[in-house]
This record gives sequence, C-alpha cells and structure tokens, in this order.
Amino acid sequence: MRYLPIFLDLQRGVVMLVGEGDPVRTKLRLLAAAGARVRWYATDGVYELGGIAAEGGASIEPATGDPLTAELTDVIAVVCAGAGDVGPAISARATAAGLPVNVMDDLEHSSFIFPAIVDRGDLVVAVGTGGASPVVARRVRERIEAMLPARTGELASFVGRWRKTFHDLIPDFAQRRRFWERVVDGPIGALVLNGRSDEAEAALRDIREPSEFAGALASGQTERSVTLVGAGPGDADLLTVKALRALQDADVVFHDELVTPEILDRARRDAKRVPVGRRVGQAGIGQETINRLLIEAAKAGQRAVRLKGGDPFVFGRGGEEVEALRAAGVAYSVIPGITAALGAAAQFEVPLAFRHEALRVTFLTAHNAQDAEAVDWSTLADVKATIVVYMGLAAGPVVQAGLLAAGRAPHTPVGVFARVTRPDAASAIGTLDQLTDLVEKVGSPPAILIIGDVVAHAAPGRHRQLDQFASYFQVAAE
Ligand code: SAH
Repeated sequence: MRYLPIFLDLQRGVVMLVGEGDPVRTKLRLLAAAGARVRWYATDGVYELGGIAAEGGASIEPATGDPLTAELTDVIAVVCAGAGDVGPAISARATAAGLPVNVMDDLEHSSFIFPAIVDRGDLVVAVGTGGASPVVARRVRERIEAMLPARTGELASFVGRWRKTFHDLIPDFAQRRRFWERVVDGPIGALVLNGRSDEAEAALRDIREPSEFAGALASGQTERSVTLVGAGPGDADLLTVKALRALQDADVVFHDELVTPEILDRARRDAKRVPVGRRVGQAGIGQETINRLLIEAAKAGQRAVRLKGGDPFVFGRGGEEVEALRAAGVAYSVIPGITAALGAAAQFEVPLAFRHEALRVTFLTAHNAQDAEAVDWSTLADVKATIVVYMGLAAGPVVQAGLLAAGRAPHTPVGVFARVTRPDAASAIGTLDQLTDLVEKVGSPPAILIIGDVVAHAAPGRHRQLDQFASYFQVAAE
C-alpha cells in the first residue's frame, strides 16, 4: 500500500481549485456535495457552474488573480483539474506551502489522489487502487454499494448519537464493544435499517441497566442462527445481495462440492470454510452429520452459513436441514439462489416457458437409473411441457426410454447444459433420440437436461465447448 486513505475535515478551511471545463466541474460537484468551501480559479476565466449547487455548508467562490501568487493562509488542500500546463507549477507551490495537492490524471505532481467513494452520510467508504485503475476502483465501489443496506449511514449516525452515553455507562472496552455489536446486529439495528429509528431510540432508552446487559453478554456465548444460502450455479456475480451479506457476516461456511472457489472467496476472509459435500460415486459425511454440525455451530455462538449450489430448496436437501434446525430449536433463515435450470436458461437463452408453446415446467431429479425408473413418465407426455432433469447424466438412457415410451416424439428438442455460468460452461443440442451422444459431448458434470420444444429457441452458435474469452466478447458485442 503506497496510498493511505485519510479523511479530510473540510470545515477547517478552503479548498483551492484550479482549472476549467468538464474536469473542473466534476471536482466542483464532488467538493460541493461534500460540503467544501471552494475557491475556484478558472484558467479560462469562464465561471460556468452548469447547474452545480452549493448546499449545506458548501460554497463556491470564483477567485480573481493569479493562483500561482495567491494567498494560501486559509487553504487546506489544492486541486487542479483541467488546468493544462499550470498543473505542475501549482503543485510545486502547494508543496512548498506544505499543502496536500492533487493534479488530475498526473500522479507525479499529486501528493494525494481521490478515491472512489460510497457516501451514506456519516458512513463513507473510500476505495483506491493507488491511481492504477479508477475503473477497477469504481467496480469495487459498486459491489460495496450493493452490499450495504440503504440505511447503513443512519445506523452509523444512530450509534454516534448514543456513543457517549454508553461509553460512560459501560466503562469496560471489550464489554462495550460486545454491547454495540449486539445493538448493531440485533433487533435494534434492524429497526434502524428498516426506517424505524424512533422505535430503535426508544428501545435503547429502555435499557436502564446497561451494566447488567453487558454482564449477560460477557457471561456466556449467545446462541446464533444458521443461514441456508443459495449460491447460484457458479458465477459469483449471480449471488444475491443478501447471500453476499450473509457470507460477509459468517464465522463458518459449510459448503457443497458444487460451490465454486470464486464464490467461497466472497466469504469473510477469516471465516472457516468446511466442505461437507459429496462427489458423485463417493459417500459424503452424511446428512445427519451436516445437521449436527450446523446445530453445534449455532449453539457455540457462531454465525453459520450453509452454502449450497443453486437454490437450497431445489434438490438441495435444504428442507431436511430446516426440519432438523426447527427440531433443535435453533433460529435459521433461508436465502434463495438461482437454480441450475434458470442459470442454463439465461446463459443459453432457452425460454423455459413460451407463449402457446410451453405452458408447464417440470423440474425432476434422476440421480441414477433407479430414481429415473421411479418417475411416472406418462405424466410428462404433454408436448407443451418443458422438462428439466437434474443429476441426469448417468440416467440419460432411462430418461430417454421413459419419455419415448410415454409418447414424446424422437425428434423432441433436447439440450444438455454442463457447468452453466462457469468459465468452462458447455452445451450440446439435438433431439431426444440423440440424448446419449449429446451427454457425451458436454464432458464432466454438473449438468442438466432440458427437454421440450423451447430448446429449439436456444441462442444459435453457442453450443460447443465455449471458449471463455471469445464467447465473452461475442456476448459483449451483441
Ligand atoms: N440445488 C441445486 C441442485 C443440486 S442437485 C440447484 O438449485 O441448482 C445437483 C445437480 O444440479 C447436478 O447434478 C446438476 O444436474 C445440477 N447443477 C448444479 N449446478 C449446475 C451447473 N452449474 N450446471 C449444470 N447443472 C448444474
């Protein structure tokens, strides 16, 4: 790290701004929004604000004279944007006066740079790449924006208002920290985030004996809850905002084989990661053991996330886990994920339902031939039904025989979609009588089958081993 983010108190003086055109207006907008008092030297002599308003404590004062000889006593920082050739000279002058200086797009003459900012009132997040790539910084900022509940700033202000009171009431630092964690993570924090600050204030006022409260917190572990989280089909950007938040809060993550490393990377850095999945053909640690681990983690005061490929309730055994947690009296919640069928549908443009053509969608699992034999295929003969088969690679021949026997035509369109939304996604499209060949073409699992007329609408030209980069740019160009 070469650049340390520090926060400048804008109330302490004036920001000297030198420059013209759009670059200077970008900085004016930023500084005005932050409440700065700006002294602006327009290098072209044109003071056109272009609708930028100085609100709150902010002011924009057009300055006359030469910025190179101007008085600097009340100046706290110097910024050049669109200042042309004078940038380096201004920089030298600011440096000689001991003032921080930024010359836009000129690291050599800047002693500080502007980070990308997430602005939620009292809560401000600064993101920087040491000037290397503002685009990357902005993308990171977007992710942070998406992760933070809208009223996070209010929560910070709320705590700020009460800090002094509880600082005096709970002198012990560790107890006080636990107290605030409890407030922020618990129902009081939830009230603020839901726009019910008045009730939150009342709840805090009601804590008459904070020492008791803090004592209870110190005396033992508080039981936490378990969150069942759907991780989606593989692409980490398909996680929901809630899933991401749960991963960021987790102390321990129990995950399936299906969960990709990129998704696990999104968990809190020091969260413990415990693989509990089973690979095809290998025994896993067993559902009972998984249930027990979840219950034990919650009882030990950990925030446990049970992270599953796709959606927890679509062939994910989430139902069994929820029942076990209920029986053990452990609090839990469920966050849905994008199931493999929907990932495949979006990536390969297979509309699962289509006006007049496909009026029904059935998800079924055919883990092995035995499962597949247990399916009543006669209920799936309807040509207006789209069928999605999970775990269906090995059972391909039985699926094919069942559907043909039920009366589905041999030329019914079929697609096999493997590793969908991952960099090595692959698909093969053909007809029901070719199913076995198609399965062979796509390679290793996980894969699903989609059967029905809608498969004929799939995006043309993408059904082969996809070259990650070629397909990316192809999609981007479309
Ligand atoms: N809960 C998961 C399904 C778990 S069952 C979900 O909602 O998607 C495991 C099966 O899901 C796999 O055998 C495969 O058929 C399917 N599957 C999961 N992820 C997949 C992916 N990225 N591409 C294709 N199929 C996938």
